[in-house]
Amino acid sequence: MLSETEINRVLVVTAHPDDVDFAAAGSIARFTDRGTEVTYCLVTDGDAGGFDRELDNGGMAELRRSEQLNAAKAVGVSDVRFLGYPDGTVTQSLGLRRDITRVIRQVRPDLVITHTPERNYAFIAPSHPDHRAVGGATLDAVYPDARNPYTFPELLGEGLDPWTVREVWLNGGQTPDHHVDITATIDRKILALRAHASQVGHLKDAENFVRGRFAQIAAAAGLGPDRYAEAFQRVPTA
Ligand SMILES: [Zn+2]
Repeated sequence: MLSETEINRVLVVTAHPDDVDFAAAGSIARFTDRGTEVTYCLVTDGDAGGFDRELDNGGMAELRRSEQLNAAKAVGVSDVRFLGYPDGTVTQSLGLRRDITRVIRQVRPDLVITHTPERNYAFIAPSHPDHRAVGGATLDAVYPDARNPYTFPELLGEGLDPWTVREVWLNGGQTPDHHVDITATIDRKILALRAHASQVGHLKDAENFVRGRFAQIAAAAGLGPDRYAEAFQRVPTA
């Protein structure tokens, strides 16, 4: 397993705007505080989300991209890339593997954070089909695609050499084994979530919900009272 000092670059691959903020923004703020470079890669623009049916899909995609840029800024991230897949119909396709492999080879991260590809039967919310498809395609891109020069040879033609990601953190699974204490960064996580006004604007008690949920995770991890934590499953991939 990588120690914190071995993690110089982090790539987060998620399906929708706000996924990274619910799952990992507190941990991301800790990385950027230490000077670690963090890149977000969003597979869709979240154009099928939201509650304001006045907006057409094009308007929603643009709004959610700008919300994600603001949320990223709240935790010190300025490199945000969108793959532009349609929201709600993502599959674990070869094309998606190639597109994520391209970003891995461009960014050359030590650590990748993404969705678990497994269905969580204890808590269904993280098991959105887009999440499982993105998690599966990202793991396939980490191993073997990004490190294998014979996979997607067109990427070599783009000047993108093979790259070996050393570790992956999966979010949303039933059996997390790694807890990051985010007590010092929960306020910035909440700011990041607030940036997604089209999604959380209608939730009056959004902040209390978030504090309650991440306090529960800290308590389950045995971190003690008045602490907050984010949970992941660590996968060594070197
Ligand atoms: Zn999502």
